[in-house]
Amino acid sequence: MPGSSHYALHPHPFSQWGAGFQQPLLIAGPCSAETEEQVMATAKGIAAGGHATVFRAGLWKPRTRPGAFEGAGAQALPWLQRVKAETGLLTMTEVATTEHVEACLKAGVDMLWIGARTTPNPFSVQELADALRGVDIPVFVKNPINPDLHLWIGALERLEGAGLKRLAAIHRGFSWFERTPYRNSPMWEFPIRLKAAFPDLEIIGDPSHIAGSRDKLGTIAQQALDLGLSGLMVEVHSDPAHACSDAEQQISPEAYAELIQSLIFRQALPSAPMADRLEELRDLIDQLDEEIVQKLGSRMDIAERIGEYKREHNVAIIQPERWERIMRRQLALASHLGLGEQFLKEFMDAIHRESIRRQTSEQDESSGVASAGVPQYPAIGLDR
Ligand code: PEP
Ligand code: MN
Repeated sequence: MPGSSHYALHPHPFSQWGAGFQQPLLIAGPCSAETEEQVMATAKGIAAGGHATVFRAGLWKPRTRPGAFEGAGAQALPWLQRVKAETGLLTMTEVATTEHVEACLKAGVDMLWIGARTTPNPFSVQELADALRGVDIPVFVKNPINPDLHLWIGALERLEGAGLKRLAAIHRGFSWFERTPYRNSPMWEFPIRLKAAFPDLEIIGDPSHIAGSRDKLGTIAQQALDLGLSGLMVEVHSDPAHACSDAEQQISPEAYAELIQSLIFRQALPSAPMADRLEELRDLIDQLDEEIVQKLGSRMDIAERIGEYKREHNVAIIQPERWERIMRRQLALASHLGLGEQFLKEFMDAIHRESIRRQTSEQDESSGVASAGVPQYPAIGLDR
């Protein structure tokens, strides 16, 4: 990433946002505003817990496919006004068009966020920035669905260019084409690099959209806090199981209170830096290790499919010429990256053995013959 001096981004930290904004900033509320009753019941439950200070609810929902629940729309704006009047919670919703912005400003919504599907579109972000020009309202920018730091920063820059100073980022993970244990891969190096480039930029975590399920929510929320993020946005619903959107990841107001009480808030000082350098590097290593294992999982799935294909077409499982080509290519890449030749050979041989084990144990199972365990194939290298 180019140095931060290339960017026009000087956001104000929460300490300069005015009364009520401090770390950790806790935002909670349903994925979607569905009915007035659901919104009020959820808000009252959250307020009773006494943890969150901001109520979120999506009024206009960006859905992957048409036909899904697309939110209650502008008719829900008075519900947010009621939330504020009756619970004292600040209100916040997602805006994606000029009309959304205008309706929210008119209704007195306290804060806005830009969703992960809007951030990557410079036309849309510029339209929103233009609609907000001259308005002093906090705007949170979610990371783009694709892992591109420049798009995330660019969206913040467009808003800053329109005069907005109370800007913050939300890390909600990234769409990923491989299987991952999460709905959106956290790729923690992105918020870490963003914070490193702009130390005054507050970044909060959205563990709900990363986890995608209730059971992983606590782990992700704690990881976000351990990395020094400035707060959490969590999806909370009065009746999570029957939510019209994101039912698997929402939790009840009671479960939310328990979650917040179970978390360790290590960083209480507004100006405390991100986790120290060693921790930061260790977190990156953990992230990379996780990605390596995920990639190995995907590689083995494909190896199994190749095994099936070979069986169907009576092709031998082991094909030394193909393996030699792979090794030659990998060794060239390794030498380019400064990886030791011996290490690379042993690593690739271990992968090859596991691939063959997967291909042959499948065969054993399908032919009813018990697998004889891990077959010991000789290491196949270029120096054979
Ligand atoms: C949401 O917050 O409900 C939402 C739609 O999130 P994202 O833009 O992160 O997918
Ligand atoms: Mn959601």
